[in-house]
Amino acid sequence: MSLSEFEVIREFFNKKELALDREEVLLGIGDDAALLSVPSEKVLSISTDMLVESVHFPKDAAPAQIAKRALLVNISDLAAMGAEPLCFTLSLALAKQSERWLQQFSQGLVEIAQRYNIALVGGDLVAGPTTISIQVHGLNSSENCLRRDRARVGDLIFVTGCLGDGAVALVSLGLKTHLGDSFKINKEEYSINCQNYFNSIYFEPEPRIEFARSCGKYIASAIDISDGLIGDLGHICKASGVGATLFVDEIPYSQSANCCMSKPNLLQAALYGGDDYELCVTVAKTDQEAFMQAAESTNTPVRCIGEINDSDRICCHNNSGEELQLHNESYMHFSGEIQE
Ligand code: ADP
Ligand code: MG
Repeated sequence: MSLSEFEVIREFFNKKELALDREEVLLGIGDDAALLSVPSEKVLSISTDMLVESVHFPKDAAPAQIAKRALLVNISDLAAMGAEPLCFTLSLALAKQSERWLQQFSQGLVEIAQRYNIALVGGDLVAGPTTISIQVHGLNSSENCLRRDRARVGDLIFVTGCLGDGAVALVSLGLKTHLGDSFKINKEEYSINCQNYFNSIYFEPEPRIEFARSCGKYIASAIDISDGLIGDLGHICKASGVGATLFVDEIPYSQSANCCMSKPNLLQAALYGGDDYELCVTVAKTDQEAFMQAAESTNTPVRCIGEINDSDRICCHNNSGEELQLHNESYMHFSGEIQE
């Protein structure tokens, strides 16, 4: 790449399509820091997620797709807080990307930034193994923040969309999962439609922003499902000091996943797979009706898959009321690699 650092920033990132027109952004790219004005009745929510080549996206993936996934998984964290996206920063370590790569990467960012009205306000650029680190900022009204530590005994557990697609998509893309050798696609049932579906769900997960903001007043606690339902619901339980029963036969799967995966593998994918970026929320029984109506008004499919209780664990029951014995683990970014 023959462009200097400043030329890259000017050409691909400091442009009006990414700056958007948000009155809260007093100063965007170009100074030592961005300046934001937070309206007095609002609170700022901040989250960051890093994507490393060959770990969080395939090395040969299309640059626009990489950019979209990087920004969307970050926006999903804002959805899990019930926040409205405001702005983001982008720190890039680039190996030897071409101008064409940068052009397409930038174009992918523009598409998502405009879709969610989230402005690029700064970042950093270094040479190194390709890594994308995004920090997103969102606005909440102070009484409408969705937190993990607010689940109460008796709450119903709902999920948006379908679970398990993230893990199936990894296999579909030829990437490794941590779910073992028996976690594989049934090739006879695997059509080009399935393949296209999993490609798009992997690179363009849908952050449930509108749902979370419209249904927030009926939601007691929330998390986005990035590491598998058991792990992520486990975070809600731990933070709230409660337990849960899951009705595993109620877990929703996509048509494509149903087509090409065995039933036991579907369950593995939903419980332990991760990368789904759907929301898991708990709702008081008295709010159930209103919650479901509000969800429908945003065209978001929701399914009740369990209930919060006063135990200290998550147990899984099938339709016949039998408890399932499950042995697996959610995705761990560090399994024993960091010594205490
Ligand atoms: P500094 O030397 O103060 O760290 P830089 O030279 O890294 O500043 O960046 C100059 C300006 O460009 C800053 O406003 C910074 O936020 C912005 N910037 C740098 N890299 C990126 C990027 N990848 N995307 C968006 N803005 C960036
Ligand atoms: Mg810098």
